[in-house]
Amino acid sequence: MPVYTDASGRIDIKSLTLPELTEQMQGMGSETFRSRQVYKWLWQKHARTFDEMTNVAKTVRVALAEKFYIAFLTPVGVLQSRDGTVKFLWKTHDDWQIESVLIPDEDRLTLCVSSQVGCAMACTFCLTGDLGLKRHLRPSEIANQPLQIRPVMPKVGLSEEARITNIVMMGMGEPLHNYDNLVPALKTYLDEDALGFSHRKITVSTVGLVPRMQQLAAELPVNLAVSLNASTEEQRREVMPITRKYSMKTLLDACRDLPIPQAKRITFEYVMMGGFNDSMEDAARLVKLMHGIKSKVNLIPYNENPDRAIKRPPEARVRAFQHYMVSRGIQCSVRTTRGIDISAACGQLGKADAASVAEFFGAAIVPQAPTSCTTPEPSTQSALRDGADA
Ligand code: SAH
Repeated sequence: MPVYTDASGRIDIKSLTLPELTEQMQGMGSETFRSRQVYKWLWQKHARTFDEMTNVAKTVRVALAEKFYIAFLTPVGVLQSRDGTVKFLWKTHDDWQIESVLIPDEDRLTLCVSSQVGCAMACTFCLTGDLGLKRHLRPSEIANQPLQIRPVMPKVGLSEEARITNIVMMGMGEPLHNYDNLVPALKTYLDEDALGFSHRKITVSTVGLVPRMQQLAAELPVNLAVSLNASTEEQRREVMPITRKYSMKTLLDACRDLPIPQAKRITFEYVMMGGFNDSMEDAARLVKLMHGIKSKVNLIPYNENPDRAIKRPPEARVRAFQHYMVSRGIQCSVRTTRGIDISAACGQLGKADAASVAEFFGAAIVPQAPTSCTTPEPSTQSALRDGADA
């Protein structure tokens, strides 16, 4: 797995899994159990410095600070929707902007996490695709998103006891294109000494990078979602260029053969685009495509935006499509649109007032020291699409 360092050669400690940290610390002559203590300080006690780790010997703390640094994302904006959805905007140490979206819903509190800056998949309907891929996020950057949101939840109207219950890798980027960084981050989500999420509460969503899907299914028991978005090869090829590499048949055959645990199903996301893939013929074909796959279908009515002529189908059409699927024995839900009003404010995000954001996050988040910057890349004005619905 990749090891990341800052300008002075110190290792990004939060990009390491516990076994990797243990190995690194053994190299320093430290007893094995020390690494677990340090790991807990990082992921459960929100340590900002090694000096805070009071149950670790002073000499070890000094040695740790020489060898490692503790990475944080810099918060640059918080936007709250009338429906309770909250969008967090962050800057990476090299000045790229990313987002996470917190979605409260009755008994669930779902965090939608970004895995890349931009995306290389170029799906025609998706605005993130317009950015192209700027870079992969590191494990620390993927895992810091839920970590850094936890302490500020009361400030966005959630109770002291509120906890993120579900993680969905459905923010910016194609998570399986960033496999080598995704897997250590998922291990940090899952580890009981770190963020401690159950595998049942974590979903990785993909355009369908078949070999990586197979690899992930063999490696970690998390949930898989596949963005299908079409009912024929031609249709899918038109909107999802990845279909040229892995045909829909290849993708669905692979899904049929994946070692899915007894209690799990693959979610197929189907973005409904008016007059394109929302007819009853599409529904009939989709039923056939699902044959023999442990699946459920999640219909996502298209979120319109000024940069695309694509229309959201009328509600009645979405419901008719859903009813048809259900009548043919397919588990099928419609994703509620959330946070529309804050995504409309996307153009303003770059102007977020840094001082008020710092005050909002208070001591919970420390902007990364400038010394830890590697080669700075130019800042970009992200064209973030409606992450709440992502
Ligand atoms: N790259 C991964 C993770 C992103 S998930 C994937 O594609 O699965 C983002 C989801 O939002 C995908 O299912 C995508 O098809 C969907 N999407 C993109 N733009 C949308 C829009 N304007 N309206 C509704 N859904 C959209």
